[in-house]
Amino acid sequence: MNRAQRRKMAKQARKSRGVSEPRPVTPVDARIARAARDNVIQIVNQGRSEARALEIAASAFFLADHLVGRFEAENLLPQPIACEAGCDACCYNQVELTPPEALLLGHHIKAYFPEAAQDLLSGHVDRILQLTAGKGKAEIAARRRQIPCPLLAKRTCSVYPIRPLVCRAMHGLDAARCQQELESGSLAASSYYAHRHEIAVSVSAGVLEGCREMGCQAATLSLAQALQDFFSQENPVESWISGEEVFRT
Ligand code: SF4
Repeated sequence: MNRAQRRKMAKQARKSRGVSEPRPVTPVDARIARAARDNVIQIVNQGRSEARALEIAASAFFLADHLVGRFEAENLLPQPIACEAGCDACCYNQVELTPPEALLLGHHIKAYFPEAAQDLLSGHVDRILQLTAGKGKAEIAARRRQIPCPLLAKRTCSVYPIRPLVCRAMHGLDAARCQQELESGSLAASSYYAHRHEIAVSVSAGVLEGCREMGCQAATLSLAQALQDFFSQENPVESWISGEEVFRT
């Protein structure tokens, strides 16, 4: 990011959104998206293997974390971020992610979750898909208290190191308010900083662009549906990197 872009983001950070304002559409930073897209192309050009497919999301997470860290080291945030372990109000939103993120999550769960935990997760996923079937985003958001993320366990993210980009963007400046809004079913958002969202959205856009250019399925997925699709197939990672449609959209 150059100085002008950093100034723009700092301005956005200072103007953290209030609860009464509708959350605006987050703009894509073309340079960040380009860097994420180039990473995908570089990785896939090294070989269409399972390892390379899984490396795509890991590389995107590294880029997003690096850019957020650098921005926050270079710009004083007017108010501290309130998030801490055990604070889970953000985890009652329906997560959207890219295919490489879904593949890394599915692979990790298959490799490291005990069988009983995988069965429990599968039950959560089925329940979420039943509760959300045929409903619009606003209707689902209004009932979010009853629909926690299937990967939330004991108020903690069970995949925290590889949580999706959108989860890396989520944060608030007032933890009590986040909790109140969740309990009351309010759709208002607690105040937040724009730069975290802009970085995550830009990296995600770049990942999708890179996937598209390499002939791999590129679409925004729902986490619950993506997990069900992953576990209903024999070799989803190899299939995706070979250019097959793996996920329902
Ligand atoms: S993936 Fe983890 S951080 Fe993201 S919503 Fe689910 S539990 Fe929360």
